[in-house]
Amino acid sequence: RYILAIETSCDETAASIIKDGTEIISNVVSSQIDSHKRFGGVVPEIASRHHVEQITIVIEECLIQAGMEPTDLAAVAVTEGPGLVGALLIGINAAKAFAFAHGLPLIPVHHIAGHIYANALVQPMEFPLLALVVSGGHTELVYMKEHGSFELIGETRDDAAGEAYDKVARVLNLPYPGGPHIDRLAHEAQEAVPFPRVWLEEDSYDFSFSGLKSAVINYKHNLDQRGEEIIPAQVAKGFQDSVVEVLTAKTVRAAREYSVKQVIAAGGVSANKGLRNALEEAFANEGIPFYVPPLKLCTDNAAMIGAAGFYMYEAGVKGNMSMNGKPGMELESWVK
Ligand code: ATP
Ligand code: MG
Ligand code: FE
Repeated sequence: RYILAIETSCDETAASIIKDGTEIISNVVSSQIDSHKRFGGVVPEIASRHHVEQITIVIEECLIQAGMEPTDLAAVAVTEGPGLVGALLIGINAAKAFAFAHGLPLIPVHHIAGHIYANALVQPMEFPLLALVVSGGHTELVYMKEHGSFELIGETRDDAAGEAYDKVARVLNLPYPGGPHIDRLAHEAQEAVPFPRVWLEEDSYDFSFSGLKSAVINYKHNLDQRGEEIIPAQVAKGFQDSVVEVLTAKTVRAAREYSVKQVIAAGGVSANKGLRNALEEAFANEGIPFYVPPLKLCTDNAAMIGAAGFYMYEAGVKGNMSMNGKPGMELESWVK
């Protein structure tokens, strides 16, 4: 079964064809990063305009690369939310038009479920499973007892991990998106500026990154006032060490408590080398299988939407022509 998947929730216009939820036939991503860079973040109105210009080209390119016709497809999966409403609507309307024109069913997919299911493209998911979702807008620990079942056991109380990365990068005058730049700098430093670890209550699986972000800002401010220069690589390392230590420790504790068979990482920040290494080492010690998708499946793409969409298709989940963008769509209420 081949599924065409479409993703336009933020600043990537993407389409992909996936076979049986596990095999990538084609995967096209048109990034708008260059258009948003000079504003230091994603500008929603600009994002929507780019999606309008790109979506038909990206879908056509996806079919050409796969060497397939619409008649080869079983369904069209599309990101329904969460994300920027204007951006979501471009993908949803393209999916509706394509599905209507070719008589195909529509499958509404939750963007974060997509990030999690990027892992199904690499190896079979084994349940019960724990997913650490770390992206531009989300930082969550998700427990899955089976396909389509998502229990949120912890989440950020303020900034998402990716958001903290991007804000700290701005303080260090690094380009947007800052995550990869901080990651690179952090590996160049021998020493780290000591920043706090935010653990919250002892038994909590929640996260908080805004205090850490403020600590970085204050550190720079204090040095500026004394007329001293900060060493960006040491600040980057200090910040990254704090983020990675907290994310890793809470994920390990949750994996133990919930006795999961598999742990996976998902979302843009799971492309982070420091985090990947720390999680790999920690779970090797725990003896629990740990996986993280290859870099290009960590950040936004449509292949992951096709993977999640396939399981929803199998479960009989269907959208219809009145589907709308859901900017605040919740993961837990999605399927079961
Ligand atoms: P969401 O998925 O929550 O809706 P999003 O789709 O904007 O948000 P993603 O595309 O999953 O987020 O991830 C983008 C984020 O990942 C950015 O904040 C970016 O800085 C961060 N990121 C990418 N690569 C790295 C890296 N190597 N280290 C740290 N952060 C990274
Ligand atoms: Mg993006
Ligand atoms: Fe995303």
